[in-house]
Amino acid sequence: MKIIQLKKTDKLNSISFYKHNYKNNIEIDESEVKNNLETLSSDEFGGRLVGTEGNIKAQDFLVNKFKEYGLKPYNNNTYLQNFKWNGLSVNNVIGVIEGSDPNLKNEAIIVGAHFDHIGQSYLCWKVPGTNDKICNGADDNASGTVAMLELARLFSKFPTKRTIIFVGFNAEEMGLIGSSDLSNKIKELLPNYNIKYMINMDMVGRNGDKPLTAAFDSKNPSSADLLKQILQNLNSNNDFDIIQGKYFKYFPYSDHYPFYKQGFPVIMFSSLLHNDYHKVTDEANKIDYSTLFKRIQAIYNVVNTLANDNQKNI
Ligand SMILES: [Zn+2]
Repeated sequence: MKIIQLKKTDKLNSISFYKHNYKNNIEIDESEVKNNLETLSSDEFGGRLVGTEGNIKAQDFLVNKFKEYGLKPYNNNTYLQNFKWNGLSVNNVIGVIEGSDPNLKNEAIIVGAHFDHIGQSYLCWKVPGTNDKICNGADDNASGTVAMLELARLFSKFPTKRTIIFVGFNAEEMGLIGSSDLSNKIKELLPNYNIKYMINMDMVGRNGDKPLTAAFDSKNPSSADLLKQILQNLNSNNDFDIIQGKYFKYFPYSDHYPFYKQGFPVIMFSSLLHNDYHKVTDEANKIDYSTLFKRIQAIYNVVNTLANDNQKNI
């Protein structure tokens, strides 16, 4: 694949009106992240195809983790946001951590990842020489899902000024169905919040020798510029390969995109494709865990900044 990079000079030209740096030394619970990933990508979950028992198991797993970590149901009585797709009843899973600042808690950041995958459907590529029939989707997207869960666990311990809404999206693999549904109904489903940003993680556990792609964009140029500055400001370890969505060919292909189309500023984090993409060989033992933990820390810093900075432009 050929990805157009931002030119080095682009990074240095912008005047840095963004100065704050919300780095925080948090501790990733590595065994929790690893256990969650191994559970979601086990054969018991069958590859989490929408409409199957394994997908419901994954959904219930997320609900239980949200409860365990102390998130509130998004509408006070359920974490499940139901929608219909192809005659099926399907759910996104939504949990909330209320902001701590009375003046900013009505503003919210959405942090999401899709938990469905392609299971044993026609989309799943078999690999000659193996009997494996299940696409377990360890990287796609158990990795993003466990990153989202770990951020939920951490922010629940250290709440931010703004509210953070955590979403496990369903039916992404069928064409961004869950994220389209939520973004279309956002005012009706989350009437108490002014959504400021949407952050998506899709496939973040492989290609550990390369920085994590951070593709940002917004229809509002000043919001896009602010996201670029925040990412650059937090990139002293070169964790991120920062690129504007309009220059990034994979930008339309994950759950941030329906939100971008609705006008929300978004960031997509991804370590991109690999040889096991949509194959039965996308297994947990191929995840680069030490890199995944570092990436969770790096994404934490971005979300923490967006959720805490009290300057007006955010
Ligand atoms: Zn996929």
